[in-house]
Amino acid sequence: MPNVLIVEDEPAMAVALKDGFEYEGYTTEVVGDGVAALERVKEIQPALIILDVMLPKMNGLDVCKQLRNDGFNLPIIMLSARGQEIDKVLGLKLGADDYITKPFSFMELIARVEAVLRRTESGNRHATVVQFGDITVDRRKRTVQKSGERVVLSAREYRLLEYFIDHEGEVIERDTLLDAVWDQASLTLTRTVDVHVAKLRKKLEENPSDPQYFLTVHRMGYKFDGHVAAGFIPA
Ligand code: CA
Repeated sequence: MPNVLIVEDEPAMAVALKDGFEYEGYTTEVVGDGVAALERVKEIQPALIILDVMLPKMNGLDVCKQLRNDGFNLPIIMLSARGQEIDKVLGLKLGADDYITKPFSFMELIARVEAVLRRTESGNRHATVVQFGDITVDRRKRTVQKSGERVVLSAREYRLLEYFIDHEGEVIERDTLLDAVWDQASLTLTRTVDVHVAKLRKKLEENPSDPQYFLTVHRMGYKFDGHVAAGFIPA
């Protein structure tokens, strides 16, 4: 089972997390400050990190930033106290994969962990270049080509495409797409999602009225089916 590095300075919380993960069959290690976290990641190469924001010596946001700068792309789930919404925005911006606010139920955390690990194992998440059919997506340059020809996507269309790639094979509800891709979900209509999916189809599908990649799942939402075997990072 995957090894989880728990970075948490509150002893009760650290013990609860450790027990919870071990009950679920994971192996764990606990460290109590940000500097130790950086050292241990390098030494034990955990499958995933649970990273508290408020930590002695170096805070979780700085740890996250440092790891990404050093080229570590393992999944990071950040923990923070209620009312620290700014941490959430910053954490995700600095490269965290998910974020959970204390207090939370362990079942909620484990669900997030499993989702993040599934995405990572699919190999797509951190790949710089992803291919499906005759489409090539360069996630570093944020460019898309079809049969070698550049396809221009709006920023929103591109974000939608990336979200689909990261969630390949999952049935995704329109509301989930709104939350993930549009910032003001409540002000945006689900119809907007349909319009943007239609644009992606028009630009990337061979036959937009009979899509192969961006599928409608009746009464549910959408599913991306790119048969992305694995993305790759070019030399
Ligand atoms: Ca703390």
